[in-house]
Amino acid sequence: MCAATTLIHCGKLFDGITETLQPNVDILIRGNRIEEVGCGLHTPSDAEVIDLSQLTVTPGMIDAHVHPDLMESFVANHSNPYSMNDAYCALAAARTAEKALRRGFTTLRAVGAFGCCGYVFHNVRAAIEQGYYLGARMVISQGCCTPGSHGDYVKSLGPVPELIQDYGQRHVCMGNGPEFFRAALREQRRLGYDFAKIMATGGFATEGDSPVDQQLGDDELQMIMATAHELGMGVTAHAYFPALVTKLAEFGIDGIEHAALIDKTTATLLEQKDVYVVPTFMPYEPVVHWDEERMKKKTVAAQKKYRYYQEQFVEGRKVLIESNIRLGYGTDIVAQFFPYESGYEYEAWLNSGIDPYRALKAATSVNAGICQRPQIGTIAPGQLADIAGWKRDLLKDPKALLDCAFVMKDGVCYETESNL
Ligand SMILES: [Zn+2]
Repeated sequence: MCAATTLIHCGKLFDGITETLQPNVDILIRGNRIEEVGCGLHTPSDAEVIDLSQLTVTPGMIDAHVHPDLMESFVANHSNPYSMNDAYCALAAARTAEKALRRGFTTLRAVGAFGCCGYVFHNVRAAIEQGYYLGARMVISQGCCTPGSHGDYVKSLGPVPELIQDYGQRHVCMGNGPEFFRAALREQRRLGYDFAKIMATGGFATEGDSPVDQQLGDDELQMIMATAHELGMGVTAHAYFPALVTKLAEFGIDGIEHAALIDKTTATLLEQKDVYVVPTFMPYEPVVHWDEERMKKKTVAAQKKYRYYQEQFVEGRKVLIESNIRLGYGTDIVAQFFPYESGYEYEAWLNSGIDPYRALKAATSVNAGICQRPQIGTIAPGQLADIAGWKRDLLKDPKALLDCAFVMKDGVCYETESNL
């Protein structure tokens, strides 16, 4: 634990916005806030001094696309029946939040549960905020979807109507018709959920759907956006193909998750409307840079879909990178990694030739904007004291965000864990 007043000596500092690593900067923290940032700050007599002169210091990282309710990302709900249970999902979410924190990711944006768990995220968040568990901050949503769609994990229980209906009732944002979604979002808001997520199309890992279908009616999509905005919540959607992304942007969506099959015209529209994209590059690495061995681990149906769209994946990646779209940093879980191993996404950005400062800003100040949390994501006076320190060269080493050496959240230090 850190003292109430702390002075951190940083070897180098990335402040979340400025595209430089400033040498020998000090950060003065009182309580949970940053009070002063500068070179050669006076050390108050009551301050504990932390020497991070061997590290590069950054704001605490933010992962904007996590499904925290899984213990392991590669155990799909159908092979782990416990993931359909609220208590198990809550334990998994608490574990993910703790592991993320210890790896330097002080905030997680939960984009819906992967199991059918009800309202577990706000309980997990409350337990962390009340100090019963160690964990990252959580910005939370529960995915809006229709029965039988990509977001309907209940269908994996098999074609037993009673079982599906019973479990389906606990999938609190799965339903039909605009009025259902209006009521579901008001209920989420009542409980303190932060934003709305729409599972707008099928995916690659789910059987019986397609990444180019539309799984909610236009009236449902428009009602979700209108209701969320009335309630002051942002709205984002899981979507891949240009026609749907265009439609969502025209309906007034704030962000898109994935957008992996996007084209240039659609990217230009997103730039004009300032719609952000959380591209989750890492899960698609074996598709963009075709990797037969890793593809073999996916289901035959998924492999077929990925191969069919492979060229579009390559093109979509290029379009996203060359665009000026506000790109957020998010990992998803459709990969061989655990939901809290958020550092792997950095590897995908750097290996795609993206400027490391764009990636670093995405994981800090840009993601703070996406999360509607302006008090995090930057190191400046008045900001919450969420701070991370890294051993490796952030500008050159794709594994740099896998090797956390210091973490502070809300002015309190925690022991770190390296992924390496
Ligand atoms: Zn996802």
